[in-house]
Order: sequence, then C-alpha cells, then structure tokens
Amino acid sequence: MNIILLGAPGAGKGTQASRISDGYGLPHISTGDIFRANIKNQTPIGLLAKSYIDKGQLVPDEVTCKIVENRLQEPDCKAGYMLDGFPRTIAQAEALDKITKIDLVINIEVDFALLMDRLCGRRVCKDCGESYHISRLNGETKCSRCGGELYQRKDDNPETVQSRLDVYNAQTAPLIEYYSKKGLLFNVVGNTTPEDVFAEVSKKLDALKQ
Ligand code: AMP
Repeated sequence: MNIILLGAPGAGKGTQASRISDGYGLPHISTGDIFRANIKNQTPIGLLAKSYIDKGQLVPDEVTCKIVENRLQEPDCKAGYMLDGFPRTIAQAEALDKITKIDLVINIEVDFALLMDRLCGRRVCKDCGESYHISRLNGETKCSRCGGELYQRKDDNPETVQSRLDVYNAQTAPLIEYYSKKGLLFNVVGNTTPEDVFAEVSKKLDALKQ
C-alpha cells in the first residue's frame, strides 16, 4: 500500500503516521523530518531548507521532489510506504504521479480555530518524534514512549504558524480536489482523539488490504 497523509499543519498527520507505521509495517516518510535531520547535520540541503522552514514557507519543489524520489527507491519502500507532509503542492503531486502509484490519500480534517493552539502548545520528542500538548504534560519534560527529551519546534511559534497555515490554504488545500477527482481521497475528522482518528483510519486500511 502506498499512502499519503494530507492535512493542515497540526491536523495530527505525524501522530497518525507513527500509529499506521507501527500497525501496518509501512515506512514513515516525513519530508519535514528529513529536512530537520539535514538541518541538525548541517548539510547543504539543511542549510537551504532552514531558510524556508524558519519563515514558514515551503522548500522549493525541485529540492523536495528529488529527496522523495531518492527515498522511494530505497528497499524498505518496495512493499509500500506512507508519505507525511508530501506532496504539499500540485507540482509535487504531479511529480509523484510520474514515479509511483498511490493507493489512498487520507485527509485529516480539523477546524482551523484549533490549529494555532495545537501547534503553539506542541512539544516533540527529540528522539522518536512523538508529539504532545503542554496542556496534557503536567510539567513532564520527557517522552513517555522512549524517555527522550521534549522540545518545542522553532517553527511552532504564532507568527510562523500563521504563515504555515496561509501556505497550506494557498498551496496544499488544492490537493484535496486533486486527489478527490482521482477517486483516492478518504476524509477523516481530526477534531477528536488520536485513538478515534486511528480507529477510523484502520477500518479503511483493513478494507483496502483485503
Ligand atoms: P512538517 O514537519 O511537515 O510540518 O514540515 C516542516 C517544514 O518543512 C514546512 O513548514 C516546510 O517549510 C518544510 N517542508 C516539509 N515538507 C515539505 C514539502 N513537501 N514541500 C516543501 N516544504 C516542505
């Protein structure tokens, strides 16, 4: 199964991706994670990506598409994969169509009013990437999954979040229609708990597997 997770920043794509990855054995390919690893290692791609990410803008399509194309050629993607945060533009979706066949696009829909709070209150494990919200952490600073240290992403501040949401509306939201027209779109309400969202997603994936 080749799956795309679509949704605005803060919709819960990363949270669902780790559950789907654990439950269905699909490699989780997050372009945001790939860029952050490059920034950490101070590679040329990292240096370039940082200048866009810090402003809440998209890294240019040519760079992002090449990274994904290379990643999809790795052996672990042979039996399927899950893309999280890619594609984010119509041009990226068209480039993807040229190199692979997508089976399902899961679109997590969340009220926009919730996203600013979700993102600005988000804390992420620096080791396993698990996300938390400060309102439920009770001052805890370590990841309950792996014990890693929790941190706040640099782009999870009100100004950059606003820019990311604007970019989503202008450049990524049109993908909903793009994939709907292809008959690949599965909408799931993301205002509920991660468990409820995963239950809905699992039903769909189980049906698809048969
Ligand atoms: P994410 O972790 O998915 O929220 O991505 C963090 C940031 O990385 C985004 O705000 C973009 O600046 C950049 N990024 C991630 N995925 C893409 C993509 N498919 N195209 C362009 N930029 C991306």
